[in-house]
Amino acid sequence: MGVRTPHEMQDPTSYTPGFSYRHGALTCESVSLAGIAERAGTPAFVYSRAAFTAAYRELDRALGRLPHRICYAVKANSNLAVLKGFARLASSFDIVSGGELFRLRSIGVRGEQIVFSGVGKTREEIREGLRARILLFNVESEAELEVLASEAARVGWAAPAAIRVNPDIEAGGHPHIATGHHRHKFGIDWAEARRLYLRHRNSLWIEWRGISGHIGSQITSAAPFWRASARLAKYFAELRGEGIALRLLDIGGGIGIRYTNEKPLTFAEYARALPRTLGSTMRAAGGELLVEPGRALTGNAGVLLTRVLYTKRSRGKTFVIVDAAMNDLIRPALYGAAHRITPVKQPAARVSVSRVDVVGPVCESGDFFLHDWPMPEVDAGDLLAIWSAGAYGFVESSNYNSRPRAAEVLVEGGRFRVVRRRETREDLLRGERI
Ligand SMILES: *Cc1c(COP(=O)(O)O)cnc(C)c1O
Repeated sequence: MGVRTPHEMQDPTSYTPGFSYRHGALTCESVSLAGIAERAGTPAFVYSRAAFTAAYRELDRALGRLPHRICYAVKANSNLAVLKGFARLASSFDIVSGGELFRLRSIGVRGEQIVFSGVGKTREEIREGLRARILLFNVESEAELEVLASEAARVGWAAPAAIRVNPDIEAGGHPHIATGHHRHKFGIDWAEARRLYLRHRNSLWIEWRGISGHIGSQITSAAPFWRASARLAKYFAELRGEGIALRLLDIGGGIGIRYTNEKPLTFAEYARALPRTLGSTMRAAGGELLVEPGRALTGNAGVLLTRVLYTKRSRGKTFVIVDAAMNDLIRPALYGAAHRITPVKQPAARVSVSRVDVVGPVCESGDFFLHDWPMPEVDAGDLLAIWSAGAYGFVESSNYNSRPRAAEVLVEGGRFRVVRRRETREDLLRGERI
């Protein structure tokens, strides 16, 4: 028995629009998660199309009349069906690899909807981006700029480019996801960036289109967004003053979400955190503000559905051993992240709880989901939902311990589809030779 703190008692369905309890059971839109587990097995990632559509529309509405373009950050959740959903909303996309470009091209996304970010693009990836006629390369070093120019000369047209400026701002929920400070590997200092813009202002092979500055991820306060975008807007104006006709101001992604007790910005608050003058700046330039949200669009639109394998008690501790593991969802081990976990069968209102550790079967002490978390009594065979798993979930999964990767399921209204089948034993051996 235990006492729960108010935040531990919070019902995650209160802030995850795609999920609710019906007749005592958890549903995604109007499909029961138990039914999905029955058909698709566990562990399985379950996504609500309505939830990510609603998030996209809400952000779009919040940005309102500010000329803008939402570039969904593919790395957060790159399942083809999810990408197709965003493409149907006329979203643009932010990619960080040739593999992500390949995914988008395979579902018919046009190059002009694609922004290519990343600190280590290979020559081949740059070539692929050029051939696809993408909207923008966000360049992160002088050396990359040289490669971009030389590859552009090879294909015979100018490369559309921006420099990712490091705005030297501390932001981001965890050291591994903060990127905007000068000690991080990302971006170029303003002084150096300015020199490169000017040096290549008349280049045949570099067409300066914009400036960019993603500062980190899981940011839950307004100040870093304000500071970074104000700084970028100033640089943007300065370069335009030098006669470099920039049109795209890319402020990156990083909008945080609620996992447990975070108090993230609403999209309206985010939009209000941007400098007032941004609208007139963009209109004067005949350009667009680019935003690159990943987590904020898909994070709370998905859960990881898992089944209890065993429970065991040892010296006053209770372990709930589930069939999902760190290879399926590595965020707790990688970032110290906490994802809420609740039974799929709705617990009675006054149910007694005890503190448990929810752990996976992988041979690592780092293979846990939550420590000392209050849970109603659960038994082998019970289904649990691990919340907020729609971003940086499946995409960060692996085959560690030779575990086949989980299925992914997309729910749309009263229907669901397996949009990535569970891997098989044969998949595990694919590509290997003795
Ligand atoms: C990861 C990343 C994003 C998305 O970050 P979120 O925190 O998921 O919004 C956007 N832009 C760039 C350049 C990134 O690397």
